[in-house]
Amino acid sequence: MDELSRLFRLAADHAADYRRSLPDRPVGAPIGQAASVGAFSGPLPATPSPPPQVVADLLAAAEPGLVASAGPRYFGFVVGGALPAATAAEILAAGWDQLAFNAVTSPAAMAAEAAAGGWLKELLGIPASASVGFVTGCQAANTVGLAAARHQVLAEAGWDVERRGLLGAPPVRVLAGAERHGTIDRSLRLLGLGADVVEPVPAGPNGAIDLESLREVLRAGPPGPTIVCLQAGNVNTGACDQLRQACELVRRHGGWVHVDGAFGLWAAASPATRHLVDGLELADSWACDGHKWLNLPYDSAFAFCARPDVHAAAMSYAAAYLVGSGGAPAGADLTAESSRRARGFAVWAGLRELGRDGVSALVDRCCALARRFADGLTAAGFEVANEVVLNQVLVGFGDDARTDRVVAAVQADGTCWAGGTTWRNRRLMRISLSNATTTEADVDRSVAAITRLAA
Ligand SMILES: *Cc1c(COP(=O)(O)O)cnc(C)c1O
Repeated sequence: MDELSRLFRLAADHAADYRRSLPDRPVGAPIGQAASVGAFSGPLPATPSPPPQVVADLLAAAEPGLVASAGPRYFGFVVGGALPAATAAEILAAGWDQLAFNAVTSPAAMAAEAAAGGWLKELLGIPASASVGFVTGCQAANTVGLAAARHQVLAEAGWDVERRGLLGAPPVRVLAGAERHGTIDRSLRLLGLGADVVEPVPAGPNGAIDLESLREVLRAGPPGPTIVCLQAGNVNTGACDQLRQACELVRRHGGWVHVDGAFGLWAAASPATRHLVDGLELADSWACDGHKWLNLPYDSAFAFCARPDVHAAAMSYAAAYLVGSGGAPAGADLTAESSRRARGFAVWAGLRELGRDGVSALVDRCCALARRFADGLTAAGFEVANEVVLNQVLVGFGDDARTDRVVAAVQADGTCWAGGTTWRNRRLMRISLSNATTTEADVDRSVAAITRLAA
């Protein structure tokens, strides 16, 4: 074997060993950040080092500070694992080092995005004519979707925002649910609209937007450029906005609907949960993550737009003659990046690995595990604070201080990992079931550990 093969094989073998260790290793990081900093610090080397030595040093420095978030008992934030074929595709993508700018720089990368994009739209029930930008995360997907929204609502008011910016532009109204994800605000900041532009719409009991309030807030303002941000999958409760009714309301008023569906949009992929996102096809743009519930490796997300021309008008800087395909906008025309890595290979591989049935089963399994978690903790005498409609469970252990103590004890224990959150002015443990490898036994073991630590 030559040196390069030995080097790559060393990295791949190590990654596989690590993956195999996930079900059994403590879930939190064995060492804290300070120790990790120590392991990586040191002077900039003056001279080159042999690659095998560099990889060996990296393994030694990184290993103790790794968090087993790809494993079956990590329930923090909304974090998925990474499917085997998708991970292998990611390794190949690194090996191929493709520039996914357009069809001239990598026909294969563009073709993978096109094929995977078609499959994604089919699975999610997004119109086949929509465009798809392959981006880093749902933060980026929200930014792209809202950039398209900004373009269109201002174009309809006779204003070319790409050329003229926002100075002197007609005012843009932005309505969003009171329990929207923080990335919506950051996207609005980056787009020059500012976070204060948001007219918050109160949420109903489980965290979905209240339709009557949406109607009132829409009516309360003047007609003209209006963007409405809806949500599929409240990051605390999992609740999905009633997309059909909300889209119809906005349509009557006039305006662009953007749906932040980082994880909740995947409800569309199972017949059992599809009703939760009924009507999603009526929206104008959608943001969805691959690296959360679909269990693709980081980083991977999708910005869909019902109007490819609007999508490209908002994002592309390339003159038509530069776009190698000469056809529909693709690749870097649909994202905020210019040079990009080839994310489409891992998406294509992950979707082939699961197939339609596998994606639907993954969604169903996580929802069933979330109910099992909730039932287990309820039976142990704790309070489940949300209606468990999807893969998210919120648990209270008495007063806020006690809940925080239980969360800290669970994180230190290492059997499983769950985060703390504040929802409706209460501290709660947030448990997200998003990993394809989690089993009923993992849930039962975690319930037992949490019960023991809370006692
Ligand atoms: C996670 C999440 C985001 C942000 O996604 P990233 O992939 O972290 O950029 C946005 N919205 C919702 C509802 C989320 O759950």
